[in-house]
Amino acid sequence: MTPANPKTANLHAVAPQTVQFYDLARQRARIEPELKAGLEAVLSHGQFILGPEVETIEEELASYADVKHGIGISSGRDALIMALMALEIGPGDAVFVPAFTFSATAGSVASVGAVPVFVDVDGATFNMCPDDLAHRIAETRSAGKVVPRAVMPVDLFGLPANYSAISELAAREDIVVIADAAQSLGGIAPQGRVGSLAPITAVSFYPTKPLGAYGDGGAILSSRDDLAESVRQIRTHGRQGSGDEALRLGMTGRLDTLQAAVLLAKMKVFDDELKARQQIAERYTQSLGNFAITPHIPEGYQSAWALYTLRVPRRDEVREALSARGVATGLFYKIPLHHHAAFAPWVDANATFPVSEKVADEVLSLPIHPDLTDAEIDHVIASVQAVLS
Ligand SMILES: *Cc1c(COP(=O)(O)O)cnc(C)c1O
Repeated sequence: MTPANPKTANLHAVAPQTVQFYDLARQRARIEPELKAGLEAVLSHGQFILGPEVETIEEELASYADVKHGIGISSGRDALIMALMALEIGPGDAVFVPAFTFSATAGSVASVGAVPVFVDVDGATFNMCPDDLAHRIAETRSAGKVVPRAVMPVDLFGLPANYSAISELAAREDIVVIADAAQSLGGIAPQGRVGSLAPITAVSFYPTKPLGAYGDGGAILSSRDDLAESVRQIRTHGRQGSGDEALRLGMTGRLDTLQAAVLLAKMKVFDDELKARQQIAERYTQSLGNFAITPHIPEGYQSAWALYTLRVPRRDEVREALSARGVATGLFYKIPLHHHAAFAPWVDANATFPVSEKVADEVLSLPIHPDLTDAEIDHVIASVQAVLS
C-alpha cells in the first residue's frame, strides 16, 4: 500500500487523498433515474400531504420490519414523542434512557413532561446495560418521586439493544419498552428484525441515517392496533382521518409525500447498501482488531452499521492524525447526556455513569457509507494502522 505522501499523492490515483465521512452525492448518482421519476410523480399529482407514496412506503416499512403497522412521521424525534404520547406518558412518570446516546432520546422524554432517568451503557456494545437498568429502576422506586413507566433502549450505531434482557425486566417491573431505532432500521436481533423488538419503535430518516430522506422524516413501527391508531391521530392534530374534531392533543407530525418518494427510491437499494456496510465493517474489524477496540456484535445480532465506532486512547490526537492523512472521522458522542445543560434538572447529583464517561472519551467513528471504494477502504485501514502503531 502506498503511504499517503502529500507530495506524491496526486501521482498515484490508487491512494485517495481524502475519504469523506458521508457521501450522499455518490448514492444519488446511483439512484438518480428512480429518484427523479418518483419526485416528478409527486409534483404532478400534487398530494403533498399524505399522498399515495406515503401509504406505499408505510406498507413497505411494515413488511420489511415484520410488523403490522408502519406510520410515516415528520422526524425521528417526533416519532419518539408520539410513542410517549400514545402511551399517555407524562408528568410524574419516569422513562429510563441510556446516558450515552444522541440528545433526542432524553429530549423526547422531557418534552412530554416526563422525567428521563439515565442508565449506564455496556462498553462492548455501547448499548443500555440491563443490570444497570435494574439498579436504576429500584432506586427510582425507592426514592418514590416519580413512577417508572417506560424504558427507551437505543440501538446505538445500528446494533439492536439487548431486548431479551430488557423486555424480561420490563415485564417484571410492569413498564413498557419504546425502541429508539433511529439508527438501526435493517438491524437484526436473535428474536427478530428491528421494528418488531418492542411494542412500539421509532425510526429516523435524517439524511445520514442508514435509510435517509432528503430532509427530515421518521416512522413508527408497531404491531399493536391501539398504539397505531393513537399515533395516526396524534400526527394529524389529534383528529381521526379527515374528521374535524380534535379527539386528543396532537401535532403536525406527518412524513411528507416528497420525502416518501425519496425513501421509496432508496428502499430499492437498501438491502444492497446494508450488505456493503457489513462487508466494510468486516474488513475494518479483521484489519484493526490489533490496533484498537473494534465494535462487538453479539452472537445472533446484525448491525445496520449506521456508524463503525472504534475505542482508542488519546482519541483527539488520533483523529487529527487521521485527518492529516485525508481520513474524515466522526465523534458520536463526546458528551454523555448527564453532562448536557438541557438535562441538568433531571440529573441525580449522586449518580455516576463510569462506562458512558469512558466511552465518550474514546469513541472514534470511521467512514462506512456504502459508496466507499476498495481503494478508500484500504486507505482508511492503512491510515488507522499507521497512526495507532
Ligand atoms: C437521529 C436520532 C434521533 C432523532 O432523529 P431525527 O430524525 O433527527 O429527529 C433520535 N435518537 C437517536 C439515537 C438518533 O440517532
